[in-house]
Amino acid sequence: MENTSEKKKFYITAPIFYPNGDLHIGHAYTATVCDVFARMSRLDDRSTYFLTGVDENSLKIQKKADELDMDVMDYLDDWVKKNELLFERLNISHDQYIRTTDKIRHHPGVIAIWNKLNEKGDIYENYYEGYYCVGCEGFKTEKDLVDGVCPDHGIKPDFIKEKNYFFRLSKYTNQIKKVIEDDIIKIFPQSRKNEVLSFLEQGLEDISFSRPYKGQKNVILVPGDESQGIYVWGDALVNYISALGYGSLGQSLDESLYNLFWNNKNSETLHVIGKDILKFHSIIWPAMLMSAEIPLPKNILIHGLMQSGGRKMSKTIGNTISPTDIMNKIGAEGLRFYFTNNIPVFDDGEITEDLIISNYNSGLANGLGNLTNRLIKMMISYDVVINLKEKFKESELYKNNSLSLKKVLQDFNINEYTNILWKQLSTIDNEIQTKEPFKLFKTDPDEARKIVEQMVRDFYTIIHFIQPILPKTVAVISEHIESREMPEKSLFPKVEKEL
Ligand SMILES: [Zn+2]
Repeated sequence: MENTSEKKKFYITAPIFYPNGDLHIGHAYTATVCDVFARMSRLDDRSTYFLTGVDENSLKIQKKADELDMDVMDYLDDWVKKNELLFERLNISHDQYIRTTDKIRHHPGVIAIWNKLNEKGDIYENYYEGYYCVGCEGFKTEKDLVDGVCPDHGIKPDFIKEKNYFFRLSKYTNQIKKVIEDDIIKIFPQSRKNEVLSFLEQGLEDISFSRPYKGQKNVILVPGDESQGIYVWGDALVNYISALGYGSLGQSLDESLYNLFWNNKNSETLHVIGKDILKFHSIIWPAMLMSAEIPLPKNILIHGLMQSGGRKMSKTIGNTISPTDIMNKIGAEGLRFYFTNNIPVFDDGEITEDLIISNYNSGLANGLGNLTNRLIKMMISYDVVINLKEKFKESELYKNNSLSLKKVLQDFNINEYTNILWKQLSTIDNEIQTKEPFKLFKTDPDEARKIVEQMVRDFYTIIHFIQPILPKTVAVISEHIESREMPEKSLFPKVEKEL
C-alpha cells in the first residue's frame, strides 16, 4: 500500500555533459537551471536528488586525447576537475556527479539493461550497411547528408558494412506515442511535444545498439560477445538510473536511491536537456525503459540554446562568452540571476556582455542590493526591532509565494517565478517613495516604524523565495536583516560597461 504521509520526492537530472571541448556558457546555464529547480524543491520540503555528470565513453573523446598526446583517462580527469571547479563557483548543489567510466557505479546498470532488453527479445544481430560519419560518430541516412557530405562536419561519410546488435525501437512506436500524447511523459514546452509526436508519425526504425570492438579504452562490452561494444544509447542514457544503483543490487551498491527516486509513484522525475538530444530522451530512452519494464521519466524539459547577437555562439564568429569572465565581473550570483530572469527557459536566449551588465545593474545593484541597504538603514535609524521568525509563514505574501513555488515545480516556468519576486521587490521600492517613512518619522514616529516593519517583513518573505536563485546572497541579507547590521561591503557593486 502506498504511504500517503510519505514526503514527496523530486529527482532532477542534468544531461551528462560531453567532454570534447572547453566548458562554455551553455554548461553553466543548464547546470544553473537544474540547480535552481533542485533548490526550489528543497525549499518546498521535498526529498530531492540532483544528478549531473559526464559522458565519457566515446571514440571521439579518445581521438581528442590522442590529438593532445594525452592518456584518455588523464584528459577526462582534467576535464572533470575543470567542470567541478565551474560548478563549485556557480554554487551547484548536485548530490552526485556520475562518470560513465565508473565501473562500480555505472557499468552494472548498463549490463543489467542490456540483459533485460535481450531477454525480452528486443536485441538482435544484423548487418548494418550504410554511411557512418566519423565526426558525428554516428550512422547517417541519405536524407541526413547535404550534397553527399555530413552537414555538421563537411566530410564525406564512410560507407560501411558491419555486424551490429540492433534494438527493436520500431516495436515501441505506438506505445511511445501514447505515453507522450497522454502526458504520462510530459514534454515541456508544448512545441517540443508536438515536434516529437510529428516525428513519431513518420514511424521509427530499429537502431544499432553496438559497434565492433577494436580494443579502444572506455567501451562497455556486450555481455556474451566481446567482439562488440555497447553503443552510446545503451550506455550513456542509462546513467540516470545506474547512478541511483540500478543493476547493482546485491553487488557493490544497494538500490535504495533507485527505489526512492525512480521506482516510486511518489517521486516526480525530471530530465533537463537541450534540444539537440530531444529524440534520444523522448523516444529511445523511454523505449528502452518500456522494454526493460522500468518506470518512465515523468517530465522532460527542453531548454533553448544561448545566442549572442542573434547568432549561435561559435569560436569562428568570435561571439562566445566565457562563464568565468562574466563571473569575474558580476559574480556567480549575477550570472545565476541573468539565467533565470533573462533567458527564456523554453526558447533560445540572447546573451551579450552589455545585456548581462545592464540586467545586473538594474535587478541587483540598483534593485535588490539597494533595497536591502535602504531597509536596514531605516531599521537602524528609526530603531525598528522585529522578531522576523514570528508568524513568518502566516502572511498572505508567504502563502502566495508558496503557491508560485509549487507551480514552478509543475510547469517549470522559472522566468515567471523570478519576475513575480522582482515585481514584489519593486512594490516595496515604490512604497518607500509614496509612503515616505523618512518624512513621517518626524511627525508620527510610531506610524513610520509600523510602515517600515511591514516592509521589512514583506522583504524578508520575498528573499526567502529568492533563495533558490541567489542562495549565497540571501543568506548574507537574512543575517544582516536579522541582526540589523549594514552589510560591510556592497552586495552588488555597480559595474560599468566597457566602451
Ligand atoms: Zn558528421
